[in-house]
Amino acid sequence: MAGFGAAHHFYKNNIRATIYEKSDFIGGHAATFEREGFIFDDGPHISFTKDKRIRKLFHDSVNGKVEAFKAYVNNYWKGFWVKHPAQVNLHGLPNEMVVKIIREFFEAGKTDKRTATNYKEWLLETFGKTFSETFPMEYTKKFHTTTAENLDIDWIGPRLYQPDLDEVLNGALSASTDNVHYVTDFYYPSNGGFVRFLDQFIDNANLKYSHEVTKIDPVQKLISFTNGKTKRYDYLISSVPLPELIPCIKGVPTGVLEASQKLACTSCVTVNIGVKRKDISKAHWTYFYDQNIIFSRLSFPYLWSPNNAPENCGSIQAEIYFSKKYKPLNKEPDNFIEPTISDLKRCGILCESDEIVFQEARISPYANVIFDLERIPNLEIVHNYLKQADIKYCGRFGEWGYHWTDESFISGENAAGKVLKQLNNLRKPTMVFKEKD
Ligand SMILES: Cc1cc2nc3c(=O)[nH]c(=O)nc-3n(C[C@H](O)[C@H](O)[C@H](O)COP(=O)(O)OP(=O)(O)OC[C@H]3O[C@@H](n4cnc5c(N)ncnc54)[C@H](O)[C@@H]3O)c2cc1C
Repeated sequence: MAGFGAAHHFYKNNIRATIYEKSDFIGGHAATFEREGFIFDDGPHISFTKDKRIRKLFHDSVNGKVEAFKAYVNNYWKGFWVKHPAQVNLHGLPNEMVVKIIREFFEAGKTDKRTATNYKEWLLETFGKTFSETFPMEYTKKFHTTTAENLDIDWIGPRLYQPDLDEVLNGALSASTDNVHYVTDFYYPSNGGFVRFLDQFIDNANLKYSHEVTKIDPVQKLISFTNGKTKRYDYLISSVPLPELIPCIKGVPTGVLEASQKLACTSCVTVNIGVKRKDISKAHWTYFYDQNIIFSRLSFPYLWSPNNAPENCGSIQAEIYFSKKYKPLNKEPDNFIEPTISDLKRCGILCESDEIVFQEARISPYANVIFDLERIPNLEIVHNYLKQADIKYCGRFGEWGYHWTDESFISGENAAGKVLKQLNNLRKPTMVFKEKD
């Protein structure tokens, strides 16, 4: 996404950039794989961009052939199914718990004073104890692989809906509430999976597959690859994850190298299942809070486009998170297939009689940035160094943020914009002022 964003911006300015990609396919984390008639993205991907320009670019890539939906999202907790977000859809949860949540939410709302220095404190200040400890704090352990007190608060933004008391009360009393999830409208290519949104950009860059960067010499402006090739560059923009990029740079100071290795992120094992049944789920995706259920989230790609699964089949994509720093993955991904199927049956999504016609497990080594308390100071060290070395960084793992696909694409465009500015400055005629005698 970020690489094509940069190349697109150059192309619009009559420059054809070269993209070096380590894989032999495009898309990075937004790649799509087709297997036995099932289409699964690397992780579940939909476009919910509110940026009309980006939406048009993506849709033009597929000649307007997109599926457009209103998303229905729900949550599963100890056998209860509640609409998302749970804080405004408490209806149906145990009465005693609902009363406690509302009382604590009311108490939390009595003061405007905000003193939170970590995510746990922010949750307690915003929602009170019972809701925080039952839902977001449990989800944090599964999704971020660490505890809420170890997380910063600068990433939250619209991701956690902050209702007023009336909304909480209405959601507790009524099963039907307005949709307030920050994602409501979503788009997905009708054919070929999410990666097709990149189609129109492929020809606008000089794309080199199977070029994994191993060495960068920022002084000589040389870049070397595992395939043995070395190339000279004029300007370098990188969307390579920072902990991998920094060790490649010749002469990088030890302090910067150490800082880059302290940046934490999750890896994701996705278990993809194809089932000979279509009525598996009414939700487009579902969040799971119980620690004894292996996955954090399930998505149902067959509901996003009818072409994502063979006729009369449904598809499920489960996400299971790990991290080098907090929860290392010490098994091959295939080991997660059986536990996933077993938990799908336990929560009633699959039944014993279901015929599973496809199953696989994949690993995405870089999934989500973990916003732990070590992130900001170490990121500053790394980014400052890259600026000195004149290597522009972009994308989710270059900027090291919570970027969605549209933001990653724009981040690439912005990095290209910085290069163009440098180029324009070089081209400007130098003004020479003569001092008067
Ligand atoms: C589970 C999950 C679900 C998501 N769902 C959505 C969603 O529904 N909608 C949405 O908008 N966003 C979603 N996102 C976010 C989205 O995936 C990212 O915003 C986007 O894909 C990041 O693009 P990028 O170009 O910054 O990084 P990447 O996609 O990681 O691209 C980096 C590229 O660099 C290549 N590379 C890495 N190392 C090297 C090297 N040494 N040499 C050469 N090449 C290298 C990689 O192969 C890759 O192609 C999701 C993310 C996750 C983890």
